[in-house]
Amino acid sequence: MTKAGALPRTIAVALREDPEGNPDFLRRNIYNAKRDLRVKNLAGRTPIVALLDKLEEEGLPFRKRVDNENRITSLIFTHPQSVSFTKRFRNVFVMDCTYKTNKFEMPLLHIVGMTCCNTSFTSALCFLSRETREDYLWAMCMYSELMDYFTPLVIVTDRELALMHANAKVFPTAAKLLCRWHIEKNVVTNCKSAFRTKEEWDGFFNTMQELMKSLTEEKFEENLADLMRDYERYETVTSYVETLLPYKTYFVSAWVDRVTHLGSSVSSRAEGAHKCLKGHIGVSTGNLLTVVDHSRAFMEEQHKEIIGKIANEKVNVPPTLGAFFADIKYKVSGFALGLIEEQYILARRSLATNFTLSTCRDYLKRVFGLPCAHAITEALADDRVLTMHDIHKHWHLVLDENYIEAPTLDTTQAGGNLPMGAPGHQRFYGPPPGPPSNYFGPYGP
Ligand SMILES: [Zn+2]
Repeated sequence: MTKAGALPRTIAVALREDPEGNPDFLRRNIYNAKRDLRVKNLAGRTPIVALLDKLEEEGLPFRKRVDNENRITSLIFTHPQSVSFTKRFRNVFVMDCTYKTNKFEMPLLHIVGMTCCNTSFTSALCFLSRETREDYLWAMCMYSELMDYFTPLVIVTDRELALMHANAKVFPTAAKLLCRWHIEKNVVTNCKSAFRTKEEWDGFFNTMQELMKSLTEEKFEENLADLMRDYERYETVTSYVETLLPYKTYFVSAWVDRVTHLGSSVSSRAEGAHKCLKGHIGVSTGNLLTVVDHSRAFMEEQHKEIIGKIANEKVNVPPTLGAFFADIKYKVSGFALGLIEEQYILARRSLATNFTLSTCRDYLKRVFGLPCAHAITEALADDRVLTMHDIHKHWHLVLDENYIEAPTLDTTQAGGNLPMGAPGHQRFYGPPPGPPSNYFGPYGP
């Protein structure tokens, strides 16, 4: 159980529940047994040598950097299965450091990808001794190397300038976005104390969220001017908002939603993934060997779950899906099918009743690579059904072997090189462009 990454507390519970187990086995004894096992595992080697041996023995791809005294200053590692998932689900990666994972207090950069089922997987982990531009540049170069020089299409980070800089250098063609969840968290940290009442604060926070959700550049300017005017007397607040403005193209919908980010810019995917990882790492005082060991167990558990879920979705689909879905069901993830079905219901409603869809802003197609209610309405009117070409390859349960995509560049992006549209995806039935629409459902038509 120690090897599988279980905490002494968990082992103690398991032993108590195991009828064969010794009921007097106290937690202390488990700690001692774990320490003995650790000493035995080192077998006279220094922890660093033992760590490198372990990575080699277990076939975990890694790159390391050492100082003059042969101490590790950076170490990036992954798992062969994580490498194949990374190449397969190469679209969106969230990168973020997590802390308090080891006794050296080295930050752990967690690179998280997302599967066709919209679940997370750990693409790679990197211990850093510092968080300078140079450290991140090394990490990103090695990450690219470990993944056979692939380029993600979208990278989501928090406002860690050193990491953003490294990504700009190593992955120049990837769209870079800022995680909105982190921005909101920072707004709370930096602005909340300026407000005396909860009502005032809530009012400001809503205004801030509306600003981030501005659908067009004009709307953003308008919302920003309103905010600056309404909160003029809160000087700390307006000056904090000003510090965010240079990054507007990285987190405001008007710019961000031009990118096929698959919904990742607004989620707290990294936080969720950190939590799961830390649950496995357990104590924050372990050495790197312990952390690597537990991370490996964590990754393998994740791989098993992902493979199981995909296998299950190949044979089980919601019974509500009719003939319109015949060519795509069992071939597209349940998550994507769910999003399409919402749009299908809207489309049917608009055809059967006098319910009118709002103007299409191509959101679902651009952001998720999926057909919206307008596209489905056209298809139904023409007596067509959905085909696999209508679904971004990210959501396919099985891929052809030639799955290679190059990002197309949109040079109008001030945020830099944001790829447009669903790559590798033919525009099948594109609805006419139009002004932003009213809100329809969680993802809108
Ligand atoms: Zn539409």
